[in-house]
Amino acid sequence: MDIISHGLYGGVSFGRKSKISYWKAFFFGIMPDLFSFGILFIFSILSFTSGPDFSVHHSVSASIPSYVHSLYNITHSLVIASIVIGMLWILRGKLMIELFAWPLHILVDIPTHSSEFFPTPFLWPVSSYHFDGVNWGSLYIFLPNIILLSVLYIQFYFRKKKIKK
Ligand SMILES: [Zn+2]
Repeated sequence: MDIISHGLYGGVSFGRKSKISYWKAFFFGIMPDLFSFGILFIFSILSFTSGPDFSVHHSVSASIPSYVHSLYNITHSLVIASIVIGMLWILRGKLMIELFAWPLHILVDIPTHSSEFFPTPFLWPVSSYHFDGVNWGSLYIFLPNIILLSVLYIQFYFRKKKIKK
């Protein structure tokens, strides 16, 4: 899924308590892409190179530096996300609910990435199995995504208004 939708899903799902909570959940929602592709974009801006051309998906996969693939494995693994969330839970003594926007990102990516371009390595490093989904740029995903996000945010907005009354 695209990075903005990930943030919006994270925020609306796990950041309903307050504004700070919303933005924390938004951040954890975009974090898996930010810490993989985001780094690549920053590097390509800093080095004044154009970076990979994402409009031709499948052919660019191999042109993307290997560190991005490694970071993508780490940030898109439910195994890693569970371990980190579990460790933070033990260390902090309480569960940070906003962190669940991270595994939500992975769950949303599984059906919205095809084998052609960065399929979601959700079982890494235990298994390299991945699901061959439908690319999120396809209208079959893009339109339902916009509709679902609109419904969720309308409901979120009216609930907040009701609570304030
Ligand atoms: Zn992702």
